[in-house]
Amino acid sequence: MALKTKGLLVVFSGPSGSGKDTVLAELKKRPVNIKQSISMTTRPMRDGEVDGVDYYFTDVQSFEKLIEEDYFLEYVKYGENYYGTPKKKIMELMDEGVNVVLKIEVEGGGNVRKVFPEAVSIFIVPPSIEALKSRLMGRGTESEETFRQRIEIAQTELKRAAEYDYVVINDDLLVCADDVCDIIKAEAHRYKNMKCLVDTMI
Ligand code: 5GP
Repeated sequence: MALKTKGLLVVFSGPSGSGKDTVLAELKKRPVNIKQSISMTTRPMRDGEVDGVDYYFTDVQSFEKLIEEDYFLEYVKYGENYYGTPKKKIMELMDEGVNVVLKIEVEGGGNVRKVFPEAVSIFIVPPSIEALKSRLMGRGTESEETFRQRIEIAQTELKRAAEYDYVVINDDLLVCADDVCDIIKAEAHRYKNMKCLVDTMI
């Protein structure tokens, strides 16, 4: 039986409208051993969301208690709501050789890199600002002011691409998912990640 190496921690970010959810959904069909971490949040559940699948939904008091108990690898207050990455489960998965993907915003991405510098970080960008605008516009219902704010937030987030290891353009979804898949595979084969396996043979 082949020995297992430890899984990677993959930080996956990108501005709203970059299509990171679609890319992740496509990535899950690829032959790369990944699992997406399920975050905890205090924001209200949206239509169609399932507790324990999309997020673990909780209240502010319980979330703050968990912060005190050091339950999170990272957490942020994003808008009015808390979002956090439960630490224990992802460490267990990585020990089992699973590459764990954290789909988190840029602030949290920075916090993960501080506590876990070995994390591989990937930033998804749209092919152009025009494409981003049309994707955000395509979502429909918001006012011109909200739309303008969303573009501004997206541009602020884009500036933080510099902090990431890799930037992948999401123009063609399949190509983008291939690129992300290649990055994860290549990173998994770095000597530092294969060392424990090689050492068992020496
Ligand atoms: P939404 O409310 O639309 O589901 O998520 C809002 C933002 O929070 C998205 O950018 C999402 O990636 C990010 N997010 C979700 N879970 C976490 C988390 O555990 N930590 C951080 N830092 N951001 C998260």
